[in-house]
Amino acid sequence: AATHSKSYSITLLPGDGIGPEVISVAKSVLNLAGSLEGIEFRFKEMPMGGAALDSVGVPLPEETLAAARQSDAVLLGAIGGYKWDKNEKHLKPETGLLLLRQGLRVFANLRPATVLPQLADSSTLKREVAEGVDLMVVRELTGGIYFGKPRGFGTNEKGEEIAFNTEVYASYEVDRIARVAFETARKRHGKLCSVDKANVLEASMFWRKRVLAMASEYPDVELSHMYVDNAAMQLVRNPKQFDTIVTNNIFGDILSDEASMITGSIGMLPSASLGKSGPGLFEPIHGSAPDIAGQDKANPLATVLSAAMLLKYGLGEERAAKRIENAVMDALNRGFRTGDIHSAGNKLVGCKEMGEEVLKSADSQA
Ligand code: ATP
Ligand code: MG
Repeated sequence: AATHSKSYSITLLPGDGIGPEVISVAKSVLNLAGSLEGIEFRFKEMPMGGAALDSVGVPLPEETLAAARQSDAVLLGAIGGYKWDKNEKHLKPETGLLLLRQGLRVFANLRPATVLPQLADSSTLKREVAEGVDLMVVRELTGGIYFGKPRGFGTNEKGEEIAFNTEVYASYEVDRIARVAFETARKRHGKLCSVDKANVLEASMFWRKRVLAMASEYPDVELSHMYVDNAAMQLVRNPKQFDTIVTNNIFGDILSDEASMITGSIGMLPSASLGKSGPGLFEPIHGSAPDIAGQDKANPLATVLSAAMLLKYGLGEERAAKRIENAVMDALNRGFRTGDIHSAGNKLVGCKEMGEEVLKSADSQA
């Protein structure tokens, strides 16, 4: 038997719909990539989302959160489905996900948008604009206008109805997301673009000042600033100009969805949510896809690539991460496609078979 120099504990949260199918593939791929790099994984599978509502009565059982917190990283499949859509808020699967993010104190959401050459025709943009896009949106996740106070409904001095929200950022909040962004840019291609609305909003002026102040610690990272309206335009005009983008909660919400559409392949997109210390949360950006659940049709690659992010950004195991990314590329190069990314001339396979092809690719690189 291989001797393992390193050992990590991973909490697996398969969840609902296609979640268990894609997590099963990602687990096998992690095991193989790990064994090729002398890394052992100890997996603990826990209930979450609708599956937990059905078995335990809550969307995030205490035992699940405790296990997640004690582990080195958390890999989530997907949660939700028609069955629980009419539940009260505290009994919705999605509420479990919010509680998990809070419980793990993850404040940085990383969403890559990479247009693989094999899939450039899936892009919503022209091939010549899309091909070669490889960018990462780093979004602040726990502050800003979505959480700021005061907020609410009321009346103004004329007695008219009003509604209001507040964008608040403390220095520590900007500094910690800026730190993640600089570190991420350093691990990627060394370019960071901070997106704000500093020509209008005080919270953005402050954001820009704090990001700029950190730049001297990262002389190897090329920093630029862009207003969000321009960034939204540049993302569809010439997305290749971007490497790493860092932005606040609300702008990041919008820009990361915009960026994902550049790739046009929801079944291919991973994400990471990171905190200061403690385990990160890694998950595909797609939902539970109830329309294809249980049919072995799901594309497992978003979750497999989330496992690669887990290795790179969660555990610092960049070599094992690269093995997984290379294996995904190789399986695509050999023509294997699930239904969501299939086109004429390729080999249509199901979720399990796609997983097996990725394993073969990983093995043959050994
Ligand atoms: P959320 O649960 O985040 O609200 P949603 O219900 O809006 O998400 P998804 O569950 O992501 O959306 O599904 C949207 C569409 O994309 C569906 O038709 C689904 O079948 C398809 N889809 C999503 N993920 C995958 C995947 N991994 N493989 C193949 N098709 C997918
Ligand atoms: Mg859904």
